[in-house]
Amino acid sequence: MEVKSLRKTYGDRVVLDDVSLTVGAGDVICLIGSSGSGKSTLLRCLALLEEIDDGVIELDGREISDPLVDPREVRKSMGVVFQAYNLFPHLSVLANCTLAPRKVHGQSRAAAEAKARELLERFGLAEHLDKHPDRLSGGQQQRVALVRALCTDPELLLLDEITAALDPELVGDVLGIVRDLAAGGTTMVLATHEMAFARDVATKVCFLDGGRIIESGPPEQVLVEPEQPRTREFLRRVL
Ligand code: ATP
Ligand code: MG
Repeated sequence: MEVKSLRKTYGDRVVLDDVSLTVGAGDVICLIGSSGSGKSTLLRCLALLEEIDDGVIELDGREISDPLVDPREVRKSMGVVFQAYNLFPHLSVLANCTLAPRKVHGQSRAAAEAKARELLERFGLAEHLDKHPDRLSGGQQQRVALVRALCTDPELLLLDEITAALDPELVGDVLGIVRDLAAGGTTMVLATHEMAFARDVATKVCFLDGGRIIESGPPEQVLVEPEQPRTREFLRRVL
């Protein structure tokens, strides 16, 4: 994915300003920055959930930010997981995971269930297949949300602070899955407040401040030896 000079405003407020970003295959890009810096908005723009004011978003060389492109079509190749795990409460874990593959991707029930079972097993959720989400812990629900996003074999995963709503003892499980996916070469852009985790999994860290990417580079540079005073100040506050 290639993002060029992205600009996003809400009314007369500029929320993203001249944001450019290259996401290569297998990259794990961590977006960091203070509350309100624009991380979620950027992810929502990449998922084509927001109209942009200026700039271009390309996926596989195709300009997906073109107003003529159908966002639903593009989102078939993306997996999106946000902070509040929006599982369908009236469906079992298995049905949550097979809904999009069947209804959006036209897979047979058998094929969708086989894939979902395999992934749920891999992420330690096999015993919960038939349960409804309200019978699961927050961490388990968030793991199901991740599995659900993976069931359609997304080319790109967009994750917005997926551990922020979890009790601290559950954070490790969810981050463990992301770490696994990263090691397996899944391409991801994720917003996180977990600096140790970012340092561990990121191929690139982007520090956002006031809607701009102020500094980006490998984690050992941005998180350990940042060049920009604002990055240093941010890290001093959060570390
Ligand atoms: P956090 O770490 O708290 O999640 P963030 O970096 O994700 O913060 P955003 O949610 O992207 O920040 O918000 C960026 C700015 O855009 C904020 O100033 C916010 O108030 C503003 N904003 C976000 N969504 C809207 C909206 N729907 N309408 C108006 N302003 C918005
Ligand atoms: Mg946010």
